[in-house]
Amino acid sequence: MTSRIFFKLLAAFIVVIAAATATLDFSIRRAWEKSLTEEIQRNLTQKVVMFANRVQTDRQHSLQDIAARDGKAAGARATIIDTEGKVLADSEADASTMENHSRRTEFAAALHGSVGSETRRSHTLGIPFLYVAAPIPGGAVRLAYPLSDVAAMVRKVRRTLLLSSALAFLVALILAGIAAQTTASRLQRIVEFADRIATGDLTARIEETSSDEIGHVAAALDKTGRRLEQSFAALQTSQRQLETLLNSMQDAVIAVGNDGRVQWANQGMNRLVQRSRLNAPLIETVRDPDFVTAMREAAEQKSVRTARAASIVPGHAFDVKAAPMPGGGAVAVLRDLTEIERIEKTRRDFIANVSHELRTPLTSIQGYAETLLDSSSEGDHAREFLEIIRKNAARMSRLTEDLLTLARVESGEHRFDTQPTSPGEMLQEAVESFREIARAQNVELIVENSSDAAVNADREAIHQVFANLLDNALKYAASGNRIVLGARPSERGIEFYVQDFGPGIPSEHLPRLFERFYRIDKARSRESGGTGLGLAIAKHIVLAHGGTIRAESELNHGSTFLFTLPAGAEADAVSQKFTRF
Ligand code: ADP
Repeated sequence: MTSRIFFKLLAAFIVVIAAATATLDFSIRRAWEKSLTEEIQRNLTQKVVMFANRVQTDRQHSLQDIAARDGKAAGARATIIDTEGKVLADSEADASTMENHSRRTEFAAALHGSVGSETRRSHTLGIPFLYVAAPIPGGAVRLAYPLSDVAAMVRKVRRTLLLSSALAFLVALILAGIAAQTTASRLQRIVEFADRIATGDLTARIEETSSDEIGHVAAALDKTGRRLEQSFAALQTSQRQLETLLNSMQDAVIAVGNDGRVQWANQGMNRLVQRSRLNAPLIETVRDPDFVTAMREAAEQKSVRTARAASIVPGHAFDVKAAPMPGGGAVAVLRDLTEIERIEKTRRDFIANVSHELRTPLTSIQGYAETLLDSSSEGDHAREFLEIIRKNAARMSRLTEDLLTLARVESGEHRFDTQPTSPGEMLQEAVESFREIARAQNVELIVENSSDAAVNADREAIHQVFANLLDNALKYAASGNRIVLGARPSERGIEFYVQDFGPGIPSEHLPRLFERFYRIDKARSRESGGTGLGLAIAKHIVLAHGGTIRAESELNHGSTFLFTLPAGAEADAVSQKFTRF
């Protein structure tokens, strides 16, 4: 790195020095040369005027002597001519042998009365001369100064200039070396810093003190390093907290990456499979097809998936909830359902047993009450009490019956006798069995439309669903004067509906309507002989058929209860499902 910076700096210096030298050489040399020539010309003009004076005033010496003396004094060649141009005297040559000079530019000007000058190469010596001539009465005088001296001086100055440039180059070389060394070593520290950060050492700092550009870069990088260290520390802390939290969970948690390999598993998971190796394919860790499918679907479809995994640990069933991870892959939480299911079964069994045990005494109370009622006379006080006893015994009897039905349906042990059944027939049956009660209440029962496609249903169980829905509609919505039933094809098979035009149900109650013992108005339900279990029973029967149930309602405009049943094609799949409920 040093050498690269060094050469770049050196090249820059050389360019600057060369440009400066060339500029100096070109501009200063020319200016200097010009001013020197002008100075020589001025000087020579003065001298030639003095020479002309002397020629006019000196009567003691010959023209040759004057020319020789003034030529020597001026350091130039002195020449005197007459008006015809004939050379009368010359300081350096024999005048008689010299050619006529009247045509020389400077002499021509002088013979016309003014000082003339010209620079040209001498015929005799072959070097450039500056000629200056001045007029005298009867001719002209001239001084010729050899310019070879000027050229020599210029050469000398140029030599000095080049020498200075060479010296400057040497200094530049040293300066470039020092600057390159300093800059390179500072940059090297930045590179080392970046390397340390890249290898994960976030404590690395440059600690530059200078305030130039490199110093600013170093300070900014140090700041970034400090921030990174803080963020990383915070991240590690929260990761540790998360790990502790996940490890302290009773549920098992496992995460897989995009490649289907295990990325992380909590202690709960490790206890379950005993070999959840990191980076191993998920299928090698958890060999449960339902679980693996849920994980794959969650990752691929980027949505939450639920499943029931029964083959991870023999004798244990797990509720699996798999969710996609933001960066790809999925994470799953496995909850052991064994204990919950055991408690649930105990509860169901208990309710079923109690209901069963209550059945006989309640029937007997009802029977005796009715017998006593038959033998009592009108207006008797005791008759009133007996009526209350009979009514309550009947209510309790309905409650125990409903409880027993619900326990049976909920347990999944009840086998439904499913057959391909016509929706229209089921609707008609339901309407028939309620026709009399409806007529008594002045309510019209209408079958609006029906579907031709068969549904797979246990006729008796679905009749129970219709009975519960119609019973409610007559109990709570008789004011609407009509109840509409129907069946239509839907995404999930055939959708049945029972619509009334009564008071409707406030929307906040709709989500909880199908819970057992959930009643909007308890007193009214009790008074009308309701147990609060009708809709819960309906829900469990529909779910056991692989369908769904829901309620829609608009206050003061009535309610609609809708449930779906799988259509004929799904018959086999559904009948298999029943064995599980
Ligand atoms: P219940 O034996 O009390 O009728 P259900 O489970 O059948 O119990 O119904 C639960 C509650 O839902 C009822 O108490 C009643 O408040 C409400 N409900 C059911 N059907 C209707 C309806 N068609 N119109 C208005 N309210 C209804």
